[in-house]
Amino acid sequence: MIQLSTGDMLRAAVASGSPVGLKAKAVMEAGELVSDAIVSALIGERLDDMGEAGAIFDGYPRTLAQAEALDLLLAERHRKLDYVVELCVNEDALVERITGRFTCAQCGAGYHDTFKRPKVENTCDVCGSHDFKRRPDDNEETVRTRLAEYRAKTAPILPYYEQRGLVRRVDGMGTPDAVAAEIDAILDS
Ligand code: AMP
Repeated sequence: MIQLSTGDMLRAAVASGSPVGLKAKAVMEAGELVSDAIVSALIGERLDDMGEAGAIFDGYPRTLAQAEALDLLLAERHRKLDYVVELCVNEDALVERITGRFTCAQCGAGYHDTFKRPKVENTCDVCGSHDFKRRPDDNEETVRTRLAEYRAKTAPILPYYEQRGLVRRVDGMGTPDAVAAEIDAILDS
C-alpha cells in the first residue's frame, strides 16, 4: 500500500522551485488551501503508482471539488474508496502537537519538544544526525489558519462520504500507537 500525501508532493514542488511550487509556496506558508486544480493534477500524476494493494490518501481530498475530482480519477481506473477515516482531536491539543514537532533532516524520524525529545540532546535516536528541521507552517498563527480552513472547507465533505457509509471515526486523542492500532483495525476489516 502506498501513501499519497498532497502536502508532501507540494513541499517537494516548493523545494524544486517548479512552477507549481512557486505558486504554492506563499499559500502554504499562510496556511490556506492550494487550488483544487493544482492538487488534483498532482494526485492524478501519482494515482497509477497504486498497485493492487491500493493507497492511503493523506491530506486529500480537502474540498468538495477535490472529493468529486477523486471520484472521477478513481472511476476511470475502476477503483473505489473503501473508507474515509476522520481523526477527532481537540483543537488546542492539535496546536500543541503541531507547533512542537520537528524531524531529523537526514532520516526523517519524528520528534516533539514536549512529548518525544531525542534521547541524547540534539542527536537523532535513529541515525545520529545533529541536523533537525521544522516546517515553516508549523507556527501557531498558521496552524490556527489551517484549522479554520479545515472547518470551513474540509469538514463539509464529511456528509458527502457519510451518505455513502464510508466514514469511520477514530479518537485521535490517544497515544500514537493507540491511534495507529485503531486505523489498522479499520483497514484490516
Ligand atoms: P499537510 O502536509 O497535509 O499539512 O499540508 C500542508 C499545506 O499544503 C496545507 O496547509 C495546504 O496549504 C497545502 N495542501 C496540502 N494538501 C492540500 C489539499 N488537498 N488541498 C489544498 N491544499 C493542500
